[in-house]
Amino acid sequence: MDSREHVPAMLEPFGRVLRKHPRVNEQLNRAMAPFENSAKVLLFSCNMCGQCLLHENGYTCPMNCPKQLRNGPCGGVRMNGHCEVRPEMECVWLKAERRSRYLPGRYLFVRLHAPLDWRRKGSSAILNAVAGFPGDVKANEKE
Ligand code: SF4
Repeated sequence: MDSREHVPAMLEPFGRVLRKHPRVNEQLNRAMAPFENSAKVLLFSCNMCGQCLLHENGYTCPMNCPKQLRNGPCGGVRMNGHCEVRPEMECVWLKAERRSRYLPGRYLFVRLHAPLDWRRKGSSAILNAVAGFPGDVKANEKE
């Protein structure tokens, strides 16, 4: 998947500006990231990774997985559906699958994602999506 896939075509000129002018991107990020991230922290327990997958995972942040897995659960999910690292917590991925059943983007749940670019942690995921991630690896579709 390309990070710009969900960005409206009309924003592409803005994305070009962000890609061409890293300084502008940086300044806008500085202004926007605190608002975006604090809203998402409150609403979705966002961990500010800067490469949001909420819309593909039933609005469940995958970065709340103690192993920070972004492509589904590990092999250690307990029989009761809880996490092997934090037994008091339901597996993030079970929750994400359940929630995604009721949302229109259900088909997006099965996608594989490129590894996280840790340099973008703390930045605005919206601006990053509009700009596209340099060196973005096209992820494979499952199946
Ligand atoms: S996927 Fe990343 S940006 Fe989206 S809510 Fe989780 S930590 Fe925040």
